[in-house]
Amino acid sequence: MSETKATEGSEKKSLNFIEEIVEKDLAEGKNGGRVQTRFPPEPNGYLHIGHAKAICMDFGIAAKYGGVCNLRFDDTNPTKEDTEYVDAIKEDIKWLGFQWGNEYYASDYFQQLWDFAVELIREGKAYIDEQNQETILSQKGSPTQPGINSPYRDRPVEESLDLFCRMNSGEFDEGSMVLRAKIDMAHNNMLFRDPIIYRIVKTPHHRTGTKWKAYPMYDFAHGQSDFFEGVTHSLCTLEFFPHRPLYDLFIDWLKKGQDLDDNRPRQNEFNKLNLNYTLLSKRNLLALVQNGLVSGWDDPRMPTICGYRRRGYTPESIKLFVDRIGYTKFDALNDMALMESAVREDLNRRATRVSAVIDPVKLTVTNYPEDKTEELESINNPENPDEGSHKITFSRTLWIERDDFMEDAPAKYFRLSPGREVRLKNAYIVRCSGYRKGNDGNVEEVFCEYIPNTKTGEPDSNRKVKGTIHWISTTHSIQAEVRLYDRLWLFENPRDELSRLRDEGLSAVDAMRRMLNPKSLEVRTKCYVEEYLTDTKPLDHFQFQRIGYFCTDKDSTPDHLIFNRTVPLKDSWGKIKDKA
Ligand code: ATP
Ligand code: MG
Repeated sequence: MSETKATEGSEKKSLNFIEEIVEKDLAEGKNGGRVQTRFPPEPNGYLHIGHAKAICMDFGIAAKYGGVCNLRFDDTNPTKEDTEYVDAIKEDIKWLGFQWGNEYYASDYFQQLWDFAVELIREGKAYIDEQNQETILSQKGSPTQPGINSPYRDRPVEESLDLFCRMNSGEFDEGSMVLRAKIDMAHNNMLFRDPIIYRIVKTPHHRTGTKWKAYPMYDFAHGQSDFFEGVTHSLCTLEFFPHRPLYDLFIDWLKKGQDLDDNRPRQNEFNKLNLNYTLLSKRNLLALVQNGLVSGWDDPRMPTICGYRRRGYTPESIKLFVDRIGYTKFDALNDMALMESAVREDLNRRATRVSAVIDPVKLTVTNYPEDKTEELESINNPENPDEGSHKITFSRTLWIERDDFMEDAPAKYFRLSPGREVRLKNAYIVRCSGYRKGNDGNVEEVFCEYIPNTKTGEPDSNRKVKGTIHWISTTHSIQAEVRLYDRLWLFENPRDELSRLRDEGLSAVDAMRRMLNPKSLEVRTKCYVEEYLTDTKPLDHFQFQRIGYFCTDKDSTPDHLIFNRTVPLKDSWGKIKDKA
């Protein structure tokens, strides 16, 4: 008995609060026991990691409760929207591994929304206001003070109807008039103080062209669109909490109490994803792209889905991260380190282990014959024996990492230094016998002697050495470009810093320039990778042993291999920060 209870308890606990709400609604038979959600992006930019959190919620709830999640483009502002974004958004959702039921557009409801607005005017619930935005704003009052009625508030219905039609025919300038819902200028929810529900926009729409010049505002389009589609749970982020009563009111007006079963969408809010050292919000990301501060929406330093994809994040790692941070009713700032650890965890399972030298220095094995080579086995993934192994070639001259050698090393340095022994991974134990410096004073070549019979499985393979280093045969390697990425921003909370600098009078772009981490990208062109990588394709995942996880860039070709560092093997940011 008590055992059953414990199980029940832990199952309950694993539900997030939205799931609890959905289960309660289902238990109460709301919406006939149906679950339907939607993911409603505005096609005004590429999706970012915050959207991934919303996507996991919207699609996750539908999947878990046998419902459907539709994709709805919230395309009510033609000045900022474009089909380029529509296409990119669809690609990113699919890449994340989700499939929507139907593809809808708020613009498909422009006629229905228009008709509804006309009805409201007829019923005396909406009126055309010819004041400008500033005046309207100045009459809103404050949370402690009621607003002032517009002088147009009680204008005749016929006049409003006439003006509304002419608003849409292109006769009037943008900003010259708006349609407002007539609710209550003293309401304690400021959003109820006669909200603007239609405005004039003359920019052609990416789908409807010049058919419309009067466009519905978010609050007048979103809930109604949910209603038209039969959405049951309209899940969004916390900033929409104060909008909920207005969302409900417009749906009440739309339904006119006809539906006794109260089939209706219900809005629920969860916390936004906020990441340290990361600036989300499409407006800011667009500014970065348009001003060339990054190479594009898919620059691997961007927090966009396509940026993370190009950098080498997997859909699974993003979903793992979203799952770990969970959903709450409080805004928080999540640590980037948490996301990176999810990425490491996932790549540890799937990345092929290879050798690469990203800061090379030559190592010559002086007692190894010049014309000799040996093929050795390198295990593809110790986490998954099924992935087998591939061949690597040992030869007399090798590339090793520059920091795997020290002329004058402290006792705890377990790598190469004159007189010391290390194991060359998968190959022999070698003893360092000397080195040669170039004219610039830098070490140009390190010499060593290999100790026979010390390969794995050979009689002297148990000889004690403290360190293992990786290497690549100079005659069996390919030169490659490696791009090392770091955080794009110098500030833990770039959003706060941005608004601070803007308050000082800087333009957004100048402020961003100042905030960028100058070391966010380091390009190394003289790196070497195993020949095994000759045919690598974009988005292949690798672990460059002892260095980090890397992925083949989309611009990589067999003649010019390019690899992006997805994430270092260990979190080194803490250390770097302390040193700075
Ligand atoms: P941005 O401010 O970055 O442009 P947005 O909210 O305007 O984002 P939309 O395309 O309007 O972007 O949003 C689509 C959905 O994604 C909405 O339901 C929104 O609440 C959600 N969303 C946007 N940003 C985040 C975030 N940081 N965390 C979680 N959900 C988010
Ligand atoms: Mg938006």
